[in-house]
Amino acid sequence: MEMIKKGYQIGCGVLISSRSKLYNLKPINSDGAYVESLSSYISRLAQKHNILVGDIVNDVVTPLLNKKYLEDIISNGGDGFFKSSNAINGTGVMAEDFVKVIELLTQRRDLFKSTLLKLEGEISIKGLLRKNKAWCPLCIEKQFKNGIDIYEPLIWSISEYKVCTTHHTPLVDHCSNCNKKMYHLNRKSINGFCSRCSTNLGEESISENASESDLNHSEQIETLVNWLVKFKDVDLEDMFINKSIQQMTDSLFDQKVGRAAKHFTIPESTYRDWYKERRVPNLSSLLKICDSLNIDIESLLNKEVEMKRTLIMNEKKSQESHSLKINSTSVEVLLENVVANQIPLSLTEVAGIIGRDRTSLTKSFPELTEKIKAQKKENISDQKLKRQRDLEQQLVRVIGFLVKCDIYPSIPAVEEIIGENTLRERKVKDFYTKLVSEDITYY
Ligand SMILES: [Zn+2]
Ligand SMILES: [Zn+2]
Repeated sequence: MEMIKKGYQIGCGVLISSRSKLYNLKPINSDGAYVESLSSYISRLAQKHNILVGDIVNDVVTPLLNKKYLEDIISNGGDGFFKSSNAINGTGVMAEDFVKVIELLTQRRDLFKSTLLKLEGEISIKGLLRKNKAWCPLCIEKQFKNGIDIYEPLIWSISEYKVCTTHHTPLVDHCSNCNKKMYHLNRKSINGFCSRCSTNLGEESISENASESDLNHSEQIETLVNWLVKFKDVDLEDMFINKSIQQMTDSLFDQKVGRAAKHFTIPESTYRDWYKERRVPNLSSLLKICDSLNIDIESLLNKEVEMKRTLIMNEKKSQESHSLKINSTSVEVLLENVVANQIPLSLTEVAGIIGRDRTSLTKSFPELTEKIKAQKKENISDQKLKRQRDLEQQLVRVIGFLVKCDIYPSIPAVEEIIGENTLRERKVKDFYTKLVSEDITYY
């Protein structure tokens, strides 16, 4: 308990109340490609409380987390933690821990979007995040001019994001005054300023121009982050990137892994490991594949989106020209596609998209329409089951966390973290009751 009490006592000596420990600050642009990174958010939070980032990490986060990797920052004042602070924005345990604690302290539920946690176990972490901070000086300058909070988007943390797509200039990773690089977080980080010499990092103009291919990769990364943000309430299918590669290999290369690997100039053994789901690919290889196929990353990753797009395009075409009616063979092919790719569209949606009425479709294609109805139904019950399982896992984590923090996991305490009225559902409530009736020291 001593640790927790200490946790409330932050650097400037202000005792933060046990309910709203830190301001409930909204992450900037939380619904798009320019979503603020968690490291930027923490830095902004410190600034709003008029304390140092070091104080938040030392006195508030560390005691709550009680993790070994954070210990050295307190014991010997080393830079160890700040050196690896890029991981706060990443896919691993550090991002997960920080999201958990900062969400608890700010009473927010959306901070995971400020990290790449959605890609956990889906993409190789090797080289995914840049070690040092990089920024677009023109964007920073614009933020200063507009008088808004200075923030760093998550995309700037991604190594392959080398060029600002607004200004078409390369990102910069060292201070123009002291020439030093800086970590994503530092004891004294303030967004928009050099953490070593306090120089403003904004600049009026930059003469250097970016390469076309870097610009294209930055655009792809924006598409990727935007796509991840869209899936905010849905967990991605396990190894969905590998599955997308399998699908693409099967359909474009006739299941010939060697041929595909050669085409993309990727070592065959590596490509085979992806195909067989033995290893996850890295971002730069995905970009390479997209370059080679001349497609955007969303099309590669999301067979469902792509399929829907094809159907919608067909609908548009048929609307554009009244004489151009989709003939029965095309309809059959479309329906077969919906079934083969297990696209969870309802029959009504499919009928709407192809401009046919539901009844006539059922009459002409009884077997296919039956399959579409069944797969939609199955998809809904799958989703329900999945949601239940996710909630149960979340309950185990949250109750464990509260117990560790010496807080009794009462229904209000748990709902405060996982959302109001979540425990109203009978099944969830039963699971909760079972958990708390078990020996709590178990956690
Ligand atoms: Zn810019
Ligand atoms: Zn400097």
